[in-house]
Amino acid sequence: MPVALLLALTLQGFTSPATVPTHGPSILIVTAHPDDEAMFAATVWKAVREHGAQVDLALVTDGAGGYRFSTLAEPIYGVNLTDPAVARASLPAIRKKELMAGGAVVGIRNYFFLDQPDEGKILDVDSVFTELWDGGWVQRRLSSIIEKGKYDLILTFLPVPSTHAHHKGAAILALRALDSLPASIRPAIAGSMIGGGEAVESFSGLDGYPLTVVPAQAPVVLDREQPLGLDGRLNYQIVVNWLIAEHKSQGTMQTYMNAGSHERFWFYAINSGASVNAGRDLLLSFGLATED
Ligand SMILES: [Zn+2]
Repeated sequence: MPVALLLALTLQGFTSPATVPTHGPSILIVTAHPDDEAMFAATVWKAVREHGAQVDLALVTDGAGGYRFSTLAEPIYGVNLTDPAVARASLPAIRKKELMAGGAVVGIRNYFFLDQPDEGKILDVDSVFTELWDGGWVQRRLSSIIEKGKYDLILTFLPVPSTHAHHKGAAILALRALDSLPASIRPAIAGSMIGGGEAVESFSGLDGYPLTVVPAQAPVVLDREQPLGLDGRLNYQIVVNWLIAEHKSQGTMQTYMNAGSHERFWFYAINSGASVNAGRDLLLSFGLATED
């Protein structure tokens, strides 16, 4: 038997009919903190595990913050994480490992660590750019990542006023990075917010940041709690909880298991009409739905 034919038959023998395609559409997530991706982890799971998408993640901060709630992780890692000096030295490496362990659950392919300082819970986004991060460098780095990655879709947090300034900052820098690229090579970009089953308050944009404008539109939504499996006893909260459980140094994040049932996505006004249609169609192809 010719070697090529033997090889083909052998490979065929190891190919499960349930195997998802390996060269599907590609998505870049831009988030501030390791654990932010939990807010749309069920969508990532569906995209990768059920539809063969390739998902990368660009993390803006080094993840050294939030150490005060790391108490229960201290014996696991063998260091006093609630000590500020120890946290500053240890947490960036620990949090990267936690992020990648959670990413292995939902199938994240690649990571870009931008390692900006992760200090304090603040709401004022201006101070993030002027005092905390090198905003210009982050924007240029994200532009380069987007251009080289040839992504179909970028996902950010929706920069609502009440969210952490780092979340708003990461979304704004992703939008600026996209805006700096020629329109012909820009992927679609959407902002996400976790919520319940009820209709959500509309967000039209963050004052002073015109790139964050979101036109009035029905979001695309994933209901994590749609019944799955035998007798409908499973749902996508399970895979989100698997991811959250990997973030053991993020103490309060553990209390968000089963919190929030609907992952919603809105397309920013910076998208062209064709980009909005392509981005929405992509999310719908993963099994999400348009919310009435
Ligand atoms: Zn966060």
